[in-house]
Amino acid sequence: MISRRNLPMNCKEFIHLIPLWLDDKLDGRRATRFFEHMDSCEDCREEMQIQFLVKEGTARLESGGSFNLDNELSDKMTRYKKRLKRKHTENVIIYWMEAIAAISIIFILILVFILM
Ligand SMILES: [Zn+2]
Repeated sequence: MISRRNLPMNCKEFIHLIPLWLDDKLDGRRATRFFEHMDSCEDCREEMQIQFLVKEGTARLESGGSFNLDNELSDKMTRYKKRLKRKHTENVIIYWMEAIAAISIIFILILVFILM
């Protein structure tokens, strides 16, 4: 059975996740799929930009600060993608450390068995 988590994200799911992403609460595999969809779907990219502008623009107007939201949006995306990459690297390292630990234990057991 193919897990739904590994299927490409559809537009409905993407739209549903936009608020999570804007709040920096999107993570892991779901965030990766979110970006995959964003890169491939023009409509959803526009929808995300609109929601970002509305959210950040409103906050900025209230605080009275000046802003360049186009830059901020691309900054946010770059930051997020970097974070995902780093997470992925960490997972690969952890995977290998666990594999090496498991092999060491097996090796020690074999050694003990031979010596006894
Ligand atoms: Zn879409």
